[in-house]
Amino acid sequence: MRNELLSWFAREGLLLTSVATSVSEEEEDDEVKVVLKAPPIALSRADRDFRECPDPVEYGYPADCLEYMLLEDMHHFVMSWLEQAVRAGMARCFVCNRVLDMGEERPWDAVFVSDPFYCWLVAHFDCKRYLNRDLRGRNPFEVQTAPPEYLGSYFDA
Ligand SMILES: [Zn+2]
Repeated sequence: MRNELLSWFAREGLLLTSVATSVSEEEEDDEVKVVLKAPPIALSRADRDFRECPDPVEYGYPADCLEYMLLEDMHHFVMSWLEQAVRAGMARCFVCNRVLDMGEERPWDAVFVSDPFYCWLVAHFDCKRYLNRDLRGRNPFEVQTAPPEYLGSYFDA
């Protein structure tokens, strides 16, 4: 992830921070490790399905777009990315784990959750009420976030 994108999340107050101290026998070697992470996108609730937020610039946004993008704009962008992921058959409902499709009327919604951590995910409208149960106890630093698939070709279609 580009530093500019990471800074954008910092500006919006959405960076996840983890501070770990590893204590070694030699006192002066103690290390404090700070890990900063932008909110991930969950293509399903499986650990392997967490992705880093894609970069709007890679999807044709102007190079300086992050200077004026609001959180609402980012939600809109991520929503478009998730729609393409659904079209590609890559996304599952976070609650019932069924593969999502666009249906006659899109039967699912993209949700930005803030508890226990910031994360975008997708779930059926009917499943959303069970989200809290499935989010409980999760720690974003325990999941490996993979780089997002480039779905630009779907945007052009
Ligand atoms: Zn569902």
